[in-house]
Amino acid sequence: MESILIHKTIIEPGNNEVVKIPVGRLPSGNQIRIEAHVFRALAPGPVLLVMAGVHGDEINGVEIVRRCLEAGWFETLVSGSVVAIPLVNIYGFINFSREVPDGKDVNRAFPGSMKGSLASRVARSLTKKVLPQIDMTVDFHTGGGSLYNYPQVRYSKGHEPSLTLARQFSAPVLLAKPPIRKSFRKVALDLGKPTLVFEGGESLRYDAQAIEKGMAGLRRLLEAQGMLSPAAGAIPARPAREFVRSGWVRAPRAGLFLWHKDSGKAVRKGEVLGVINDPHGNGQEVVPAPKDGFMIGHNNAAVVNQGDALFHIAYEA
Ligand SMILES: [Zn+2]
Repeated sequence: MESILIHKTIIEPGNNEVVKIPVGRLPSGNQIRIEAHVFRALAPGPVLLVMAGVHGDEINGVEIVRRCLEAGWFETLVSGSVVAIPLVNIYGFINFSREVPDGKDVNRAFPGSMKGSLASRVARSLTKKVLPQIDMTVDFHTGGGSLYNYPQVRYSKGHEPSLTLARQFSAPVLLAKPPIRKSFRKVALDLGKPTLVFEGGESLRYDAQAIEKGMAGLRRLLEAQGMLSPAAGAIPARPAREFVRSGWVRAPRAGLFLWHKDSGKAVRKGEVLGVINDPHGNGQEVVPAPKDGFMIGHNNAAVVNQGDALFHIAYEA
């Protein structure tokens, strides 16, 4: 069985190692290192990358990976290997920000370059030092500021290994999406390596349901891959809802926004999902569902502008 090599450290089957990958320095001079926790069973099997915090303020993902590490799951692998990176974008994390300090998005900077912007350098350290060593990835994300995501997994449309992995994870919602240009998922897909992008909750805020569903899905995937023995007394997941299209319902006007219905529920065409009120009492506009679907995200902002994303609706195949 092959050795895994991550940033000058060789990890043999049966060994665990924490590898610190240097990405740069803060203006204060402090070195920034991405921590990759590598776990290897003696028996051969797939190498799974479990990562979070590519967007530094998406804390539910970071917490999911942290709890899996704390629970010692990966120390009991019966086959294969796990590379767990709880926090990719340390710069964003310490600034409570999605991006790196220059405002660039790491997940739009892949494959990256060590001569490029900071986002590009962070991306490069993953593509160069980690991606060649792994077979598949679960990338944990969280919704935006005030934008809540119902626990869901996005996988690459038309890529059979990605669909298989998504069904093994079996989040409450599975959504087929073409990969975004210059995202990690796209770069990995170009190498034939499937990536699941998990989404759950809002940025900078714990969401118990998202954390629980993220952990449960990862557990199911590890068991389905034969990497972990089935947990005693595990409750099987309800069958996932599978969708292949989604779209946003946007604010028809600016004002005070109140939703009547939130994520995780079926919606009917014409049903009133929320209202937008003029703050001076000069009128109200209702926001109807454009067609039948299932709500996978909604906006918790009290004040919205015209065109703001309000409800994310997934549609049947
Ligand atoms: Zn994200």
